[in-house]
Amino acid sequence: MTDNDAYKGYKGEALSTLKNFNALVWSDVNIYTEQGKFTGLILPRSETADPYHIVLKLRTGYNIGIEAKKITNIEITGRKEAHYKIPEKEFPYDPKKPRVKLFGTGGTIASRLDYRTGAVIPAFSPGELYGSVPELADICNLETEKLYGVFSENMGPEQWIGTAKAIGEEIAKGVQGIVIGHGTDTMHHTAAILSFMVQNSPVPIVMVGSQRSSDRPSSDAALNLMHSVKTAADSDIAEVMVCMFGPTSDMYGLLHQGTRVRKMHSSYRSTFRTIGDIPIAMVNREKITPLRTDYKRRRSDKDVIINTAFEERVSIVYYYPNMKPDIIESLIENDYKGIVIAGTGLGHVNKPLYPALKKAKEKNIAVYMTVQTLWGYVQMYVYDTGRDMMELGVVPTANMLPEVAYMKLCWALGQSNDLEKVNEIMLTPIANDITDREPSNGYLIFQGGIPEVEEFISRYRK
Ligand code: ASP
Repeated sequence: MTDNDAYKGYKGEALSTLKNFNALVWSDVNIYTEQGKFTGLILPRSETADPYHIVLKLRTGYNIGIEAKKITNIEITGRKEAHYKIPEKEFPYDPKKPRVKLFGTGGTIASRLDYRTGAVIPAFSPGELYGSVPELADICNLETEKLYGVFSENMGPEQWIGTAKAIGEEIAKGVQGIVIGHGTDTMHHTAAILSFMVQNSPVPIVMVGSQRSSDRPSSDAALNLMHSVKTAADSDIAEVMVCMFGPTSDMYGLLHQGTRVRKMHSSYRSTFRTIGDIPIAMVNREKITPLRTDYKRRRSDKDVIINTAFEERVSIVYYYPNMKPDIIESLIENDYKGIVIAGTGLGHVNKPLYPALKKAKEKNIAVYMTVQTLWGYVQMYVYDTGRDMMELGVVPTANMLPEVAYMKLCWALGQSNDLEKVNEIMLTPIANDITDREPSNGYLIFQGGIPEVEEFISRYRK
């Protein structure tokens, strides 16, 4: 191994410290500093890294930089060989097993550490994913296709429309289930728009991601992937769903309906929650256990409806006390066609915004109200504020989640400029985006992860 590989990316003070203790990259070490002892794996550094720090991957999976000049000793306890690439494996074919298509769009589930820059980059092809999770072959015949390779903040209309069309083509070819690998950050946006763009699907459409990349010991990538593939292959739930880690243990995943799901924690693996309802089902490697009965069933026809209409000039305005009307005015001036407001409480904004909202109505801009509380309904008859706003043309959207209302409005305005028609589309539930009532136990129970909930849910886990 060249010096270059042995101390990959290190220079200056950091390099001389490593050399001093004969500590190569990928060594398991205890590093002693003035601040105490750190145990972990020495990671390579990027070409552009500074010369002062040694980067250690801690057992928790987090990476930290330790200042070289504060290091008093490095004790080497082991060494790993670097695997820069997981080999792509061809999936074995078993005619008795269902056919599942896995689309890759990017995100952490498709990521590994980039040893050049030290950053996590989308680099796993779906074939590589199979290479790392061979159990998938026990479930189905998996075909993979990389549609995109982006972190999910970069998903947009082009990718949503492309994904919807790709789903339609696969269903026409007779696939038994579809899995979409996706970054978790905006997975609920994509799940929502796919719920509108892809209707009447005869097969499960399952979105999956991971909160922790597969180079971390606590990664949820493999388990989520197995659960989602199992759901696509075997479940009778023909809905757009998100399949992610359920509780904090590894016992099961939860299937959330595409219009009722939201990422609720920035780093927990059990980050996705069903809002305003309960998850559709639990899934483990052996079986899928429905928690509800009102879902659409799998069919053997191919009568999916793909409608990729989309208007981009729509915005969400998250109201905060003391918001100034110029926020709304700038949307009017910039030719926005639709505004979704996430209002306080039952759906409120302050009075100074009223004239701007009136102007929006005069300019034929569609304005809809949702609630910041996420759970519960917009109710604009309770206070004067609500009634005033309805007079100004602001339309309440019951218990539609703000991001779902945003996506639905983009889709509705893509189909018509006639605000009555848009209203009809917005207020007609398509995939439980509006529900008649929220189950009283939904807010507290069936979400997984805390002992009371686990006890409750264990009654269903036979
Ligand atoms: N930033 C990533 C993404 O959404 C996070 C993830 O995949 O979990 O693409």
